[in-house]
Amino acid sequence: MAVAEAPISEPHTSALGSINPRSISVFGSTGSIGCNTVELLSQNPKSFSVDALTAGSNWQLLAKQAIELGASVAVINDESHYNDLKNALSGTNVEAQAGNVALVEAAKIPSDMVVAAIVGAAGLKPTLEAAKRGALVALANKECLVSAGDILLKEVKKSGATIIPVDSEHSAIFQVFDFDNPDSVAGITLTASGGPFRDLSLAEMQSVTREDALNHPNWDMGAKISIDSATMMNKGLEIIEAFHLFPVALDEIDVLVHPQSVVHSLVSYVDGSVLAQMGTPDMKTPISYALAWPGRMTTSAQKLSLADVGRLDFRAPDNERFPALGLARRALQTGGSAPTILNAANEVAVLAFLQGKIGFVQISAVVQRVLESVNSVAMGSIDDVLAADDEARDTANNVINTIKL
Ligand code: NAD
Ligand code: MG
Repeated sequence: MAVAEAPISEPHTSALGSINPRSISVFGSTGSIGCNTVELLSQNPKSFSVDALTAGSNWQLLAKQAIELGASVAVINDESHYNDLKNALSGTNVEAQAGNVALVEAAKIPSDMVVAAIVGAAGLKPTLEAAKRGALVALANKECLVSAGDILLKEVKKSGATIIPVDSEHSAIFQVFDFDNPDSVAGITLTASGGPFRDLSLAEMQSVTREDALNHPNWDMGAKISIDSATMMNKGLEIIEAFHLFPVALDEIDVLVHPQSVVHSLVSYVDGSVLAQMGTPDMKTPISYALAWPGRMTTSAQKLSLADVGRLDFRAPDNERFPALGLARRALQTGGSAPTILNAANEVAVLAFLQGKIGFVQISAVVQRVLESVNSVAMGSIDDVLAADDEARDTANNVINTIKL
């Protein structure tokens, strides 16, 4: 097993109650996961110290967070905002930096833990760098594992890094999986809310808008993952994520639609037992679990009352209305660069939908066309991943240009 094996280095036996605070860097601190993380860190100043915070372009929020948390470095990816960030941080002890190279350099700062919360393949290089130096990696950025799972895990194994999943389903499985006896596990089940269109027919999905798709019934998330949830590509990406994180075969990974999002995922054992992790749908729970691992910490997440919830519903997913699920499974079966191609094509298609260039049902259609047009090749290095990613993005843009709305 490449994950969850390495003990936390002394004296951090638990984030809470340890003698020294755990040092943390947050990549993508201004996003949905990032802001929840910053809130948890600011509520527990004795347990955590903050090294680096990074953001794409929102320098105002980045500066505010860095000052509030007393970070050492704030990195803005968009270099055109370097002066804005530097001015906002003048007179403080926070150093301003900008650009791609600075982002990757920030991952080399020896923080105990790196929270990987950038969205998309843009988070790949800093996450890989954190893995290379043996950090604890609290991983929200699932696209990293989808796009470069084998390469990332090779680095994890080599360095003794530990990945602690932040994605709620994978956090759930991580919490109930018997890593000491993996042979006792018969399979895992990822639950899915089904997104805002879970009850729509394919015909009805033809006319949904961007706002409909962004309006997730249970979770408050960034734009890209909200669209992925609506197409259910999110669950497809999560199947691939789970395949890399846990010692299970692809046919041992099931998906179950569960509209209430209370049961976050399940592990089935050979004796017939099924263990689940439950909670209200609030990302503060899985984020805090990663931050405090192997301990736990108090959060403001609403307490789960099953009496109030009353009933829990479950049903099998509909692969016809949600073709993204099958595309992700097939990409994983094909192997090589196919998952990288799937991820890159999906990122381009989601952006095109958000920009009004294609309709909702065309997102999965574009991904399918790209998977059919670009050959999967073996991947040995990060350069191979980046080349496959580039080719898939170009092809996806070409496919999108041929689509007439
Ligand atoms: P978001 O869009 O709200 O935030 C993304 C963060 O990444 C922001 O800080 C943004 O500034 C930064 N960023 C974007 N592009 C960048 C680039 N090119 N270079 C550097 N930084 C860049 O996204 P989110 O919803 O917080 O999701 C983050 C990741 O966590 C995604 O991979 C998502 O799938 C995963 N995740 C999110 C949730 C959730 O509830 N939001 C749940 C599970 C998993
Ligand atoms: Mg999830």
